[in-house]
Amino acid sequence: MTTTLTFDTLIIGSGPGGTACAKYLASHGNKVALISKELGGECLNYGCIPTKTLLWTTELLERINEGGATLGIDVQNVSVNWPHMQKRRGDVINKLKKQLAFSVQQSGAIIIEGVATFVDAHTVEVSPINGGEKQIISAKNIVIATGSTPRKLAGFEWSEKIISNKEILEMPALPSSLLIIGGGVVGVEFASLFAGLGVAVTLAEAGAQLLPLADKDVAQELERIFTRKKITILKDAKISLDDAQKFDKVLVAVGRKAATESLNLTAAGVMTDTSGIAIDELGKTNVPHIFAVGDCTNGKWKLAYTAEKEGVIVAESILGMNPIPLNKYSVPITIFSLPEIGSVGDAENGANGELLIGKSAYSGNAKALIMAGRDGFAKVIADKQTRKIRGVHLIGERAADLIAESALAVANELTLEDFALSLRSHPVLSEILKEAIENCK
Ligand SMILES: Cc1cc2nc3c(=O)[nH]c(=O)nc-3n(C[C@H](O)[C@H](O)[C@H](O)COP(=O)(O)OP(=O)(O)OC[C@H]3O[C@@H](n4cnc5c(N)ncnc54)[C@H](O)[C@@H]3O)c2cc1C
Repeated sequence: MTTTLTFDTLIIGSGPGGTACAKYLASHGNKVALISKELGGECLNYGCIPTKTLLWTTELLERINEGGATLGIDVQNVSVNWPHMQKRRGDVINKLKKQLAFSVQQSGAIIIEGVATFVDAHTVEVSPINGGEKQIISAKNIVIATGSTPRKLAGFEWSEKIISNKEILEMPALPSSLLIIGGGVVGVEFASLFAGLGVAVTLAEAGAQLLPLADKDVAQELERIFTRKKITILKDAKISLDDAQKFDKVLVAVGRKAATESLNLTAAGVMTDTSGIAIDELGKTNVPHIFAVGDCTNGKWKLAYTAEKEGVIVAESILGMNPIPLNKYSVPITIFSLPEIGSVGDAENGANGELLIGKSAYSGNAKALIMAGRDGFAKVIADKQTRKIRGVHLIGERAADLIAESALAVANELTLEDFALSLRSHPVLSEILKEAIENCK
């Protein structure tokens, strides 16, 4: 027996993209069903939130170990309690999941638990996760927000030893040694986490620099700090299965793959390309009433906050509004390595035209000194002719938070002089940006 339900909009996937879209539409009076396999998606369950929860403990541990004595705190017998860290990870996820469920319900959207498969372009069949009665749901509009899964590395099968970002979070004990294949964002965050907890970490990157897309000075600074932390860095690395056997655990972090297998997209006539569901700048697929957002698409960004924004943009289109496409926004990139990285706009490597460049070290910043922070810098890149700010790159204390005002500067095409018009208090970390602007030449 199946039940049949009809909605204005059906959203498949309850990560940041799907939930943002559902809440926006429902709060504007649209009748919305949100099909949820796991509320919060990758971000809440295996990505943004659990990694940052564990990293926060690691950062505190590093501060106590490195700076305790400097700060005048005598601490003895400091040790890591991994099971307790695990419990806290679960507690934070559960608390945020409850808040998310509440806010989706408050908006008026209906959450239906299960996995959706297209029957035709207006209809899906939803199979409950734990068995039971299937439901047929039809809707005028459908939004696909099914996210991504870890990309497999050719020749490496998932096993007890060879694991993804999901299993590494759930390890019952810390490994004695860890090989991380992939020196991108996920790789450097996990390297920071486990090296900070005392695990012997080897980080292997196939390209010539860690974080291949980052500004070269930022990547070099991270490498310097990682080396000091005794992380073994292999660049231009080709890791064989035999190499991998020498490690207790091997994390494969070589990118993500659009999660579309379970959808039966052919039944809906939705087209994909090699990187995911093909969309235009407003999230429209080739089928007029079907949209896609977030990691499952061939879009440029694979981030929680860009998925969320894409969800709202699609909702605005469905409501007949006139949304601003994501490519008109300036998107800050934040990397939660220890220390953090925040970037927006152009990197020096690859930027065209004549540039003005200004740098300022955290070691010269009063607040950083107060916090016993010693690493990193801010780097501002401006156009020589127009003096407009083209890029800002920070590595060091609270860089992920500090980048926000630079994103505003790049988005609004501010000149160096415009940016300097905003006074910073004293002593604060953001004074580092003032210094970098003043040093631009
Ligand atoms: C280790 C790690 C750390 C990260 N850290 C950050 C960070 O700090 N900041 C940041 O911005 N981004 C971070 N990301 C990226 C971020 O998690 C993703 O970009 C974001 O989750 C994408 O959101 P989404 O809505 O597109 O999909 P997802 O969050 O992946 O959600 C999609 C959901 O749909 C479900 N689904 C799939 N198929 C179906 C189906 N047929 N029916 C029903 N449901 C289905 C999936 O199981 C999933 O639950 C991180 C990623 C990883 C792997």
